[in-house]
Amino acid sequence: MDRFEKRRDKLRRRIGKQGLDGLLVTNFTNVTYLTGFTGDDSYLVVSCNEDVLISDKRYTMQLEEECPGLELVIRGPSKKILSSVLAVMRGLKARLIGIEANSMSVGLRDALANGLQQEKLEHAELVGTEGWVEQLRMIKDRDEIARTRTACLQARRTMEVVRAVLTPDMTELDVAAELEYQARRFGAKGLSFPPIVAVGPRSALPHANPTSRCIGDSDFTLFDWGVNEGLYVSDLTRILVTGKISPKLHKVYAIVLEAQLAAIRAISPGVTCAEVDRVARDIITEAGYGKHFGHGLGHGTGLDIHEAPRLSQEQQAVLQAGMIVTVEPGIYLPGWGGVRIEDDVLVKRDGHEVLSSVPKQLEECQVPYWR
Ligand code: ZN
Ligand code: ZN
Repeated sequence: MDRFEKRRDKLRRRIGKQGLDGLLVTNFTNVTYLTGFTGDDSYLVVSCNEDVLISDKRYTMQLEEECPGLELVIRGPSKKILSSVLAVMRGLKARLIGIEANSMSVGLRDALANGLQQEKLEHAELVGTEGWVEQLRMIKDRDEIARTRTACLQARRTMEVVRAVLTPDMTELDVAAELEYQARRFGAKGLSFPPIVAVGPRSALPHANPTSRCIGDSDFTLFDWGVNEGLYVSDLTRILVTGKISPKLHKVYAIVLEAQLAAIRAISPGVTCAEVDRVARDIITEAGYGKHFGHGLGHGTGLDIHEAPRLSQEQQAVLQAGMIVTVEPGIYLPGWGGVRIEDDVLVKRDGHEVLSSVPKQLEECQVPYWR
């Protein structure tokens, strides 16, 4: 049994336990997770006795390469995906069919329900399910961990090269383009998300969009970038110092770094997400900056950049070995700027391992060219 069959089998057990006859997987990231297929516009039906991938002719060759042995329904250019789904359901004689309530549109659900009526399959019933595949995706297997390691390494190499070519007259937009270009040169599919390159005061916006502001306009720049190695992503944040380290930057940076290191130390199986968040938040709050840390401590990564679990104040979910989470405390001071430090951490049976390895002591963040 390959790893995709294993994943589908786990899902099948859940489907059976919940008394359903099958699950229609319409979230394409979930389809990729369960089959290895990296195309698009395809649905997967997982039922008690078989799995069927519904796709179209553009992907015939790719499907043979990526998921040999999987039963396929390939529709022609004039056939709608909905009629193929209905045909598969008729064949399965399924009565209770799970749908992914968090991602299926209301339009598709209504069309499916109408189709079942018209096809005289009115005995079939659609049942909303929430996060069944996403819960499986939280615990990474060996291949997923290895791919995330690669994504972290590519992120490091990308930053090393971009750091070396930075000049004061480069704009945030120039640097964002350079990050994308270098990531691809290192073999990545691309960046995991549009990068944040925020010069000085602009770094007070936790999700700043790159502008024509120049790197040389301030003493520091915040970079939030990650690499998609092909399927799995990394997500890091660093400050690069491009001028003098002011006493304020020194102070704020030291608090954020202390909070981040303490939270990472707290990561271990059995600890709740809220507890890890609290470790970092307490340090920032005691230093007087609590109200300037306005987001959760981190999030899972994987096929998507934001996955379960979330490290935040409300999350009572318990960390388990195999989860990969970011740890990214920040302090944002309007008018001055923001400091965030982000790394990707694997939860292991005996504790944790930091997968990303870009230097983060403030002195190591100085761009040598301007020193
Ligand atoms: Zn990030
Ligand atoms: Zn992040």
